[in-house]
Amino acid sequence: MRLTKIVATLGPASLSVPGIQSLVSAGVSVFRLNCSHLSTQDLPELIALVREAAPEAGVMVDIQGPKLRFAPESIDLVNDSVVSYKLSDLGIETSDATDSRGLEVGHRILMDDGRIETVVENVDGERFSVRVRRGGFLQHGKGVNLPDTEVRGSLLSDKDLADVAVARDLGVEIVAVSFVQTPSDILSIRELIGDDILLFAKIERPQALERIDEICAVSDGVMAARGDLGVETPYESVPAAQTRIALSALRHGVVSICATEMLESMTTSSRPTRAEVADVSGAVRDGFDAVMLSGETAVGLHPAEAVRAMARICEESEKHVAMANYFADANPGAAAVTAAASALAKRTSAKFILSISLTGFSARLMASCRPSCPIVAITPSADRSRRLNVNRGVYPLVLERDRNFTSAVTSAIQLTKEINMLKSGDEIVVCASRLHPRSDADTILLHREPD
Ligand code: ATP
Ligand code: MG
Ligand code: MG
Repeated sequence: MRLTKIVATLGPASLSVPGIQSLVSAGVSVFRLNCSHLSTQDLPELIALVREAAPEAGVMVDIQGPKLRFAPESIDLVNDSVVSYKLSDLGIETSDATDSRGLEVGHRILMDDGRIETVVENVDGERFSVRVRRGGFLQHGKGVNLPDTEVRGSLLSDKDLADVAVARDLGVEIVAVSFVQTPSDILSIRELIGDDILLFAKIERPQALERIDEICAVSDGVMAARGDLGVETPYESVPAAQTRIALSALRHGVVSICATEMLESMTTSSRPTRAEVADVSGAVRDGFDAVMLSGETAVGLHPAEAVRAMARICEESEKHVAMANYFADANPGAAAVTAAASALAKRTSAKFILSISLTGFSARLMASCRPSCPIVAITPSADRSRRLNVNRGVYPLVLERDRNFTSAVTSAIQLTKEINMLKSGDEIVVCASRLHPRSDADTILLHREPD
């Protein structure tokens, strides 16, 4: 059984009931809807479509956030020339013309995925001038990046807020937020969506990378969004940044996703390049919970093949990786029993760990301990079950909770037998909590299914 989860972005190539179902069969457990390419009006219908086609899968709504774009007419930017602009030319709306929103002399302004580089020479409120360091023809609408600037003010546009409201009202599993800069960006969105929806921070700004531990401390998950991260920081620093993001998430016990161009060539080709295979394998070695497909499944020619390729690479790579328990090392008091159950499963070569919980909290805690076998997570509701789809190694199942602890354990074991997961002679570790929800487990059982 594969441990690393697969998140797939939906788009024209996959947005249909059979399209979504073929991706589930190929190994996808979470579907991503990218609001950068969708209208708020279309969102409810698309979420309903995923629910219809894949009722057990998780849905992630990815909020665009402040993606800056060059608003003026196209222009040829000549090396060493000086050009004047206003913040609104970069897509930064200002209500106060005297506020430079954090832009300072010496800050770089990159355009068109970093192809064009300019440096700020003068700032006067919302007006500023730049000197062109690396010029070229700049088309209207191309992306703008401000790697040195912590842009002050609100993170979300009106469309973003409307998308967040739809995601909340329709009860999706995950809201991912683009271009997070600070922990307070996450906290302010948490107030809007409540505690039931998982909130993920996309790490694509150097300001977020610097504060990765603080951001992990207030998020349910983080995504190494390597596209814009590779523009805002030198591309050669992205591999180390991704390892750092995964490690910080492991220590904080939050979910991590590795994203962008993982099998990019499969957008058109039916086979991945060797370098892409190595990249997916590297993400498994870094300890990410999940790997993500973007254009490959949204607009690619071979969406299901891309997922199957990813599943194969993950499964093979996992055989050669033994994860340390970074979470327990960093939080010795938080998961003593869970960590012991994870270690016990390894020592006994258990087939899987059966985690029985009311909220899914203990399954998440178990996943953070990175056991070497899968975790079968029993929760009493489909909502809670779907939220576990992004956690490494977790296979969620729904079963009504028996009030009596012993019979709850017995019926959970029975269920795994019925679906042929547990077979005669198999040994498993059962980990559960008799008393306290949302805390470490308090009971470990070693169960051997009679021959
Ligand atoms: P982000 O920076 O948020 O990842 P992106 O533009 O890279 O945004 P992805 O979601 O990563 O977009 O998808 C990769 C490609 O797939 C993009 O080039 C985009 O054009 C296309 N795409 C994604 N979703 C859709 C959609 N719903 N409709 C049309 N095209 C889409
Ligand atoms: Mg984006
Ligand atoms: Mg992308």
